[in-house]
Amino acid sequence: METLAERVAHVRDRVAAALAAAGRGPGEATLVAVSKNHPAEKVREAIACGLRTFGENRVQEGLEKMNMVGAAAEWHLIGPLQSNKVRKAVGRFALLHGIDTFERILQIERAASALGEAAKILLEVNISGESTKHGFAPGDVASALERSLELPFVRVDGLMAMAPFDCPGAAARPFFEGLRKLRDRLRDATGAGLPVLSMGMSNDYEQAILEGATHVRIGTTIFGSR
Ligand SMILES: *Cc1c(COP(=O)(O)O)cnc(C)c1O
Repeated sequence: METLAERVAHVRDRVAAALAAAGRGPGEATLVAVSKNHPAEKVREAIACGLRTFGENRVQEGLEKMNMVGAAAEWHLIGPLQSNKVRKAVGRFALLHGIDTFERILQIERAASALGEAAKILLEVNISGESTKHGFAPGDVASALERSLELPFVRVDGLMAMAPFDCPGAAARPFFEGLRKLRDRLRDATGAGLPVLSMGMSNDYEQAILEGATHVRIGTTIFGSR
């Protein structure tokens, strides 16, 4: 059984190798360690291994761990945001990855405006078209983005997606390429910077980095099975 430190080192090596293979610089992909269903103690261990950014897919669970772990970590919400959790999440999570309705964006705008601090979000895109997946249909992202650009307290930093369940490893790569190209088209059309591409998980993060992922969300490979 490998230790957490060994697993972290292994993932870091593979991230670095994928960045080099893509001709990208060494710091160009942020490792978001997905700590959902693992206790705060594990997060502390991971911080001791040098990790800083943690992903949670439920607001309540994330807030509890934030309170236990303190300021040594940055927290991202990677799962869907329910409307009754918007006011709890805004101002606490540094980045909201899974935003997929304009109604939710308006709620985030109201909550962030009350705090006087813009909220950073990603638009989740359903690149696989699977009915079980969250996300805007690719054709609906442009209008959501355009309308979001009018809102002073919402900052759309980029896009997020998940590969189809039945496409592990290299089979996922065309979907990641599709998300990058969609981002490039939106950037050209709107002038928004959209620097962030959150894509790639334990089974496919190297493929995602080859296609330009700036944030890979890795749970199982770091923390073991949940
Ligand atoms: C759980 C989760 C991950 C991490 O998945 P692993 O396969 O364990 O690496 C990444 N992204 C989202 C949105 C998740 O819910």
